[in-house]
Amino acid sequence: MEALGEKSFRASQVYDWLHKKCALSFDEMSNVSKSLKEKLVEKFEFGGFEKVDVQESKLDGTRKYLFKLADGNMIESVLMRYHHGNSVCISSQAGCRMGCKFCASTIDGLARSLTAGEMLGQIYAITRDISERVSNVVVMGSGEPMDNFDNLTRFIEMLTDENGLNISQRNLTVSTCGLVPKIKEFARKKYALTLALSLHAPTDEKRKQIMPVANSYTISETIEACREYYEITGRRITFEYSLVAGFNDSDEDAAELSQLAKKTGAHVNLIPVNPIKERDYAPSDTKRIRAFQNKLEKNGINVTIRREMGRDIDGACGQLRRKVMQEQSYFA
Ligand code: SAH
Repeated sequence: MEALGEKSFRASQVYDWLHKKCALSFDEMSNVSKSLKEKLVEKFEFGGFEKVDVQESKLDGTRKYLFKLADGNMIESVLMRYHHGNSVCISSQAGCRMGCKFCASTIDGLARSLTAGEMLGQIYAITRDISERVSNVVVMGSGEPMDNFDNLTRFIEMLTDENGLNISQRNLTVSTCGLVPKIKEFARKKYALTLALSLHAPTDEKRKQIMPVANSYTISETIEACREYYEITGRRITFEYSLVAGFNDSDEDAAELSQLAKKTGAHVNLIPVNPIKERDYAPSDTKRIRAFQNKLEKNGINVTIRREMGRDIDGACGQLRRKVMQEQSYFA
């Protein structure tokens, strides 16, 4: 502000409009002088979040947003409404290069990583859209957050800052497919958030069949990094485990998974795989899911089954983006 010839307290006024009130333009900043607004318009621009599509679930009110960024890239974000508050699932990249076989986000590879502003922007745009506070954030949309490390940490610090939305780190979850060196680096930030590891298979051999990252890091190395994360931060890890019928849902798989969870004190979150049309993975049936859960519980593991939300909309990672981009023939 001083460089613009303004008093320095103007900075916190503008910051407040941007990061607390989630302003959509400089015009709205009613306590900012006309001359300053003119200078701001000239020097800076808003990220340009265009709401391309919103699908709302008739079952549970879940809303899936498709946003177009300033450079034309499209990203998805999901709003889930719970009794305890509004939770937003954000994307960390446009597309993804991790190649998990069951995931729609990765089919066309990585377009680019998002800036910290574009990660925040998804939450700000949704806050404005619903005129309600967002209390929980999960970085579980498209992209691999640990593949965009510096922007991720900047995003976390701004989101949880008291001058911004001031969301508690305890209400934040970051999900990774398991980039081991990055998990270790992340632990050293000592955030009080929840780290979720997408495990999805209890042995290296099986994991390699569905997750290419398993060719770079063994489960044992990954588990070791998770233990380190827990030791340094004191925060329990969550294992995400998508159940694919006949692939990773046997009693033997449950026994092996129990061993891994015990070693790290991890909580296990079971997710029936969400079928995508490009692949033929089918979810386990309810009976098998219950049996799998029982087996884990008998072994003393803390386990939950992910409540499915937005089943009637394109809920799975990357499905809506792909659909719209195909309709607009982004892909030849
Ligand atoms: N790249 C990060 C975060 C994005 S994906 C990661 O891998 O964790 C968020 C979660 O959804 C991951 O656990 C991912 O494996 C899972 N996922 C992706 N597609 C899915 C599908 N079709 N069905 C079930 N889970 C899926």
